[in-house]
Amino acid sequence: MTRVDEHRLLRASELTMEEYDQFATERAFVLPVGILEEHGPHLPLGTDIFQAEAVVNEAAARTGSIVLPTLNYGNCHSTRNFPGSISIGFDTLRSLTRDILDELARHEVKSVAIVSGHAGSGHMRAIKQAGREAVKEHEGFTVALLSEWDVLFGYAGETVNGETIPQRDGHAGTMETARIMDLREELVKETPGEHLPNDEGYVLSPTPEDALPDGYIGDPSQATVKLGRVLHTLAVDALADLFEEIEP
Ligand SMILES: [Zn+2]
Repeated sequence: MTRVDEHRLLRASELTMEEYDQFATERAFVLPVGILEEHGPHLPLGTDIFQAEAVVNEAAARTGSIVLPTLNYGNCHSTRNFPGSISIGFDTLRSLTRDILDELARHEVKSVAIVSGHAGSGHMRAIKQAGREAVKEHEGFTVALLSEWDVLFGYAGETVNGETIPQRDGHAGTMETARIMDLREELVKETPGEHLPNDEGYVLSPTPEDALPDGYIGDPSQATVKLGRVLHTLAVDALADLFEEIEP
């Protein structure tokens, strides 16, 4: 369920050019990043899009930050051979992100937070490289990059508001299932039981999906709406702090 104050949410797509021009030098801008990717037999392909948009919108409404249209495509590796996964190349993602950042800087935007619901290693590296290039190129331009999962995995093993944050969890596991139960319960199918990944070892495989044959890691059957709400709130609080920190 979304609890965003729509009256306070500033979407770049809804601003006039004069409003954009004024906000450019005064506010943090936020680029949510998602991906279309399989999330096991129980979660929708847009899981990472829904998660990123929900936490970004709520945090941005709180801080008055400007939300850019979501980048709905990303890079994935071990999941890309499953139906529904669309992986754009590392260079494509780096280049696309770089172009967006350059255009923001060209129109006087001073600071941008990129928040990715998908945390694949190649995906994050491509975006980070673009960010590093952009801050080198544009003097005084600030770029922050994180996946909200960076925040949430930091709480692994801790108990927050009566909910224990799982220690061993992964793609489409307990936490992601809980978050989609909270945000879009109507899209969650019957939750399967625990499945841990096969160890890939050091030898690179041409069929990386073998490491997660059912498309998920962790125990979706342990997910609850309440855990999802706790995770959502932790992510929103951390993002709101970050958006304030980078405000020009
Ligand atoms: Zn995901």
